[in-house]
Amino acid sequence: TTSGRLDSLNSQVVGATESKNARVKLVLLGDSGVGKSCIVLRFVRGQFDPNSKVTVGASFLSQTIALHDSTTVKFEIWDTAGQERYAALAPLYYRGAAVAVVVYDITSPESFDKAQYWVKELQKHGNPDIVMALVGNKADLHENRKVPVQDGVDYAEKNGMFFIETSAKTADNINELFEEIAKRLPQVSSS
Ligand code: GDP
Repeated sequence: TTSGRLDSLNSQVVGATESKNARVKLVLLGDSGVGKSCIVLRFVRGQFDPNSKVTVGASFLSQTIALHDSTTVKFEIWDTAGQERYAALAPLYYRGAAVAVVVYDITSPESFDKAQYWVKELQKHGNPDIVMALVGNKADLHENRKVPVQDGVDYAEKNGMFFIETSAKTADNINELFEEIAKRLPQVSSS
């Protein structure tokens, strides 16, 4: 449950006496069409709109979550908005990012391959302390699943990433994704 999860978050930051308000840059990476924009809209606005598409430039949204009374994390979320076509510009995009969320679509093995490409890029050019999450989205389409859960689990474990499957459509695990990321931030977990 959410309250159980938040309790465990609280217990991890016990000893932190002053309030903490972390502000972190979060970048989304992954093939076009895997659901990056929908994940953000679900998290920020609580909506799923299959037609809302970022058309020009990078979109930027922010959302603050409260972990307990005195800790908040403000995510400044950068959506790739097609930068996958300009791989050479990617290091500019993820410079300064504390969090990278690498998304694939569980019905698309190609998107899983592409996710692995982005992880390697982040390992080469990203901030060494970056918190990385691997997200298998469109979990509601399990009848068309082509990427086994275990493949995601194994790859994430090998690369020191947090792994979760989500559905922006049904809202499954969307808040959990961001809560788990917040929990892993050095700004939050160190006192
Ligand atoms: P982006 O290019 O990665 O930002 O992908 P979008 O967020 O624009 O989503 C691409 C398409 O996938 C849209 O038509 C969405 O309706 C659909 N989509 C996104 N997330 C989900 C999901 O969790 N389940 C299902 N069934 N469709 C999704």
